[in-house]
Amino acid sequence: MITVQAIPLLSDNYAWLLRDSRSGAVAIVDPGEAAPVAAAIEAGGGRLDAIWLTHHHGDHIAGAEELQARFGAKMVGAKADAHRLPKLDMAVAEGDTVALGDSTANVLETPGHTVGHIAYVFDGGLLAGDTMFSLGCGRLLEGTAADMFASLQKFAKLPPDTLVYCGHEYTESNARFALHATPDNAALQAFAAGVKVKRAAGEATVPSRLADELAANPFLRAPDVATLADLRSRKDKF
Ligand code: ZN
Ligand code: FE
Repeated sequence: MITVQAIPLLSDNYAWLLRDSRSGAVAIVDPGEAAPVAAAIEAGGGRLDAIWLTHHHGDHIAGAEELQARFGAKMVGAKADAHRLPKLDMAVAEGDTVALGDSTANVLETPGHTVGHIAYVFDGGLLAGDTMFSLGCGRLLEGTAADMFASLQKFAKLPPDTLVYCGHEYTESNARFALHATPDNAALQAFAAGVKVKRAAGEATVPSRLADELAANPFLRAPDVATLADLRSRKDKF
């Protein structure tokens, strides 16, 4: 079983510290900064086996090489983006399996935000990077709306009790747009009210349950590419 700890860093990023409970193996997902991650690793016994990257943006990789040098971790990332990621020890693609001690994660290719974006799925959890956020999705900086639609549909097929670990604490602003775009969704209204309470108390709103995203996230609920494209372009200007 993999347990997950949030490491907040930069202004609103999350790196995710994963620990395989049987073997004690540890991985960090998207270390956009080294110092807060190194502190958490030291506090947990000083072990780092692997660094899992979702995409090439600096706020997800900037601490990776320093952590690798310090702890001797194996760098894992998308084969398609190997030319613009830190030097990979394991270059992965759709359907590949990545081990963490006695646990494993499966790789999904999820283009849209970037062309080489990948997500990692383990028992009970989805490491979504900047493909999907709670109540939102990533900006289409490189891929098309059709790419993003196909990526989100991969997430929609996962077990509904999956916990979604995304790359940013964007939920409160996403909720404002979601309520503007789909004001009649009662599940969204309830979700957004809960988000407001958590943020007022200074708490993280992620991970969220996939079932709740399926009920409330307008981007995940978009029935076709055209609807998703329209939502995304309106959100860009919101
Ligand atoms: Zn990004
Ligand atoms: Fe990001």
